[in-house]
Amino acid sequence: MKLLKERIKEVGKVCSEEILKVDSFLNHQIDPQLMKKVGEEFVRRFKGQEITKILTIETSGIAVASMVGLELNVPVVFARKNKPVTMNDDSYVSKVKSFTKNKVYNISVATEYLQKDDKILIIDDFMAMGQAAQGLLEVTEESGAETAGIGVVIEKGFQPGGDRLRDNGIQVESLAIIDNLKDNQVTFA
Ligand code: 5GP
Repeated sequence: MKLLKERIKEVGKVCSEEILKVDSFLNHQIDPQLMKKVGEEFVRRFKGQEITKILTIETSGIAVASMVGLELNVPVVFARKNKPVTMNDDSYVSKVKSFTKNKVYNISVATEYLQKDDKILIIDDFMAMGQAAQGLLEVTEESGAETAGIGVVIEKGFQPGGDRLRDNGIQVESLAIIDNLKDNQVTFA
């Protein structure tokens, strides 16, 4: 997606050869106009699938997922990283290892929000090792719902998550794929 790649080039900060910071439009401050276009692009890429629900993970996936949900007119569910006291025990749970925080945590989704007859589109901000996406896939499988595919805004193509999932037959759509973050620069695939 040209507009997205231009924005990454313009404002993205290379923190290391593995981490890109895009806080100014995705991970801290949100650019609603850009997110709207990102949402429309996901809808275009998954066209023809009878998607009934969007599933993401808090926090940074929520803004993007909401735009997709708005465009498709379907609900958006986000997995919780810390199970709140208000959430009952009827929930699907999966373990996720955080790439940026290097810790393992449980994600939970209340069973009432994922049904067997749902077709789920999984959305997230970044794809690195694919752990967050895998956790969301497991939650979807546990519910008996079908997965339409996975949409991520930025995939780091030099890390194995995206291709591992594609090798398992899952449609993974990334709007910007980064080849490397060497020499303090973003190089797209
Ligand atoms: P994965 O589970 O695929 O290893 O990592 C994906 C998750 O880690 C995303 O939800 C995202 O929040 C975070 N993440 C991974 N790599 C980066 C990165 O380079 N920059 C930012 N801002 N977040 C990242």
